[in-house]
Amino acid sequence: MRVLVFLLALPFTLHAQMNFDTVKIRPFRLADNLYMLTGTGGNLAALTGKEGNLIVDDQYAPLSDKIRQAVYAINPGEVRYVINTHLHGDHTGGNENFRRVGATLVAHDNVRARMMKESVNREGKTVPPRNPESWPVVTFQQRLSVHLNGEDLELHYLDRGHTDGDVVVRFRNANVIHTGDAFVRERYPFIDLTSGGSFLGYVHTLEQIYSLADDQTKIIPGHGALAMRADVKALHDKLADIRDQVIAALQKGTKPEDLATLPIATKYDAEFGKGFVKGKDFVLLVADEVKGMAKTRKK
Ligand SMILES: [Zn+2]
Repeated sequence: MRVLVFLLALPFTLHAQMNFDTVKIRPFRLADNLYMLTGTGGNLAALTGKEGNLIVDDQYAPLSDKIRQAVYAINPGEVRYVINTHLHGDHTGGNENFRRVGATLVAHDNVRARMMKESVNREGKTVPPRNPESWPVVTFQQRLSVHLNGEDLELHYLDRGHTDGDVVVRFRNANVIHTGDAFVRERYPFIDLTSGGSFLGYVHTLEQIYSLADDQTKIIPGHGALAMRADVKALHDKLADIRDQVIAALQKGTKPEDLATLPIATKYDAEFGKGFVKGKDFVLLVADEVKGMAKTRKK
């Protein structure tokens, strides 16, 4: 549990405990001037070209120089724009470093608002505001377009899901979508309730990501390997199955605390249980959100 909290809410405490020296930033080419980059933390995207380099997410602060070098190796030049898919430190830890070298930070309104104030983590501990240099400079509520290096980017806020500031970035011409943690692979999604997340919103967001894509779209998940929209549908269908089973069990009178003993989550634990969110905690979270629906459907 301690590790979990460090990972999610105290990224800067985590620095002291993680060794970044051996981390390599690896680029995978997805289109002429568009790459997926991996290191430690959330997956990155890099759009390169004469008009300046742009990255989506920036992992942890100690990796900023390695990320800059990896992007520079593709296209000599500085990172001029950083888009944050959401506020978590494994996606935004490098913000102040990139701002210091002149990058403009872009994110959802709620990311900036949450970074500016004290918050409470899952252990109930108070986390101080982020350094002002890491606060996004350009923010938006629903939709923002960016036109750079011959690419048209659409930044979409689709719903509360992982947090209440999730942004999905669509590169229209390259037919690539970076989902941030609104879509992850091989783990139960983390619904960050203290940052405004919602399980039902997460399911709704997956439906919309699917609609934005076609069968050729390459999808960069927040964590895990490059995906296609069939993978988004597969996760959606599994979460919908968990939702429906939880509703059915609650309608039969199962107490929420007994849900963990049913095969609802155990069925998915082999695939998803290796992440930090455990099946029994996930079904409890789902139950808490759908209990109103279970009552409605009973009538
Ligand atoms: Zn996250």
